Amino acid sequence: MSKPIVATTSLAGCFGCHMSVLDIDEKILELIELVEFNKSPIDDIKKFTKKCDIGLIEGGCCNSENVHVLKEFREHCRILVAVGECAIMGGLPAMRNGIPIEECFNEAYLNGPTVVGNDAGIIPNDPELPMILDRVYPCHEIVKIDYFLPGCPPRADLIWEALVALVTGDEMKLPYEVVKFD
Ligand code: SF4
Repeated sequence: MSKPIVATTSLAGCFGCHMSVLDIDEKILELIELVEFNKSPIDDIKKFTKKCDIGLIEGGCCNSENVHVLKEFREHCRILVAVGECAIMGGLPAMRNGIPIEECFNEAYLNGPTVVGNDAGIIPNDPELPMILDRVYPCHEIVKIDYFLPGCPPRADLIWEALVALVTGDEMKLPYEVVKFD
């Protein structure tokens, strides 16, 4: 029987949620037996090569590329899971949501304490660069999300339990201590 196929991506996130996936330690061997990975930083497959059963999304959407990748995941994955606070609510990157975008650019490229050598006052605007969005959007505001795994990052046991439940179709057991809100 073919294994369920899993894809993962990091949008506006810090890769901490992906590190938490790897933090399942020796269960990683069971995971490899249980599922096949497709597009993911875990196996470095850059493009979808087939339809997937489960897509794990880390991070929300702060630019046009994030939106493009998220929609691509929705198209290719039967089940989409928002993993971690950034994917669920925007997380730390969404702290800019109350600040006008122009002020953010000025701080990052013109007047911030770490800005050096930009005497010409250039704000990067190459057409190749993804367009920054007016605010950081949680994933469910862009596409339909099927499940949400809370935490920053969600604990490895929580990700493991969720994956096993999704793959086997069993009811997901979430004891209080594996759910971490911070
Ligand atoms: S939820 Fe936390 S660990 Fe995950 S990407 Fe966001 S900041 Fe990083």
